[in-house]
Amino acid sequence: AKENGRGGHAFFERYMFEQAEDHRLLEQDVREALGGDGLTLAYQPIVDARNGKIVGREALLRWRHPRRGDIPPDQFIPIIEDAGLIHQIGDWVIREACAEASRWDGRMRVAVNISAAQLTGAGLAKTVLGALAASRLEPSRLELEVTESVFLGDDAATLASLERLRSLGVRLVLDDFGKGYSSFGYLSRAHFSKIKIDQAFVRGAADGAQDCVAIVHAILALSRGLGVETTAEGVETEGQAEIMRQLGCTQLQGFHFGRPVPASELFENSAAAALR
Ligand code: C2E
Ligand code: CA
Ligand code: CA
Ligand code: CA
Repeated sequence: AKENGRGGHAFFERYMFEQAEDHRLLEQDVREALGGDGLTLAYQPIVDARNGKIVGREALLRWRHPRRGDIPPDQFIPIIEDAGLIHQIGDWVIREACAEASRWDGRMRVAVNISAAQLTGAGLAKTVLGALAASRLEPSRLELEVTESVFLGDDAATLASLERLRSLGVRLVLDDFGKGYSSFGYLSRAHFSKIKIDQAFVRGAADGAQDCVAIVHAILALSRGLGVETTAEGVETEGQAEIMRQLGCTQLQGFHFGRPVPASELFENSAAAALR
């Protein structure tokens, strides 16, 4: 057992070393990607639950690594944060998404994800203001999605930052609600315009898990009481869409309605349809 233990330990150390090496290499690569066109945005539709019409799109960061192919944002965003590049990249995401959305139908919204690290410092509001001015996008058409993790750090500073952003007229969205240890308490922290119900509940409710149904029910009742919109995330089947509609969710998002695609492909279908 002792041998095994030591062997396991050595293995663990080597694993940690390789992870660190990997991290360092990827950090160099992401710096290079910044200058070129390695980093792009993909847009996923968010539809009105009643009629299926697109009411907005979420901008999702994509990184195509020259040798490793696509690396998911869950993997590279922590690297970006450690490298101190999140402000630079996050600012680019906001400007790019606003510029893109200004070309869409006049009421369609664009949602941008904001990590906890981006909320620290006073720069974010300035970036948002600049992006809105440059794109002439109506502030209410920009949604900033944050998860409850933003409340884990300096609460007062976070709240001030969120309030400052809201005062610009943009909408705050609480992402991944229900995931992890979300509590209803977070909803009263800031003035959110919308709550996104985590995919786990959408799946669970459709699979007939009564606890999931009850939780979604409670989230929706609370949202209605607060006058807050709701989006069900990760809707993959008509069955999932149907139960979320029945429970009273106002918007739906997921592969069932459309995958995230590059801006260049957004209007391809309608253009192709027009040609037919
Ligand atoms: P998120 O904000 O919760 O984004 C939704 C994720 O679910 C996206 O993954 C999306 O592609 C995926 N998704 C959408 N519909 C479905 C579905 O029907 N089924 C399944 N299985 N998945 C679906 P993605 O693009 O890999 O992004 C992962 C996370 O990375 C995002 O989660 C967000 O937290 C973060 N992220 C993405 N872009 C940015 C960004 O520009 N800035 C920051 N700070 N974070 C970002
Ligand atoms: Ca999101
Ligand atoms: Ca989410
Ligand atoms: Ca997430």
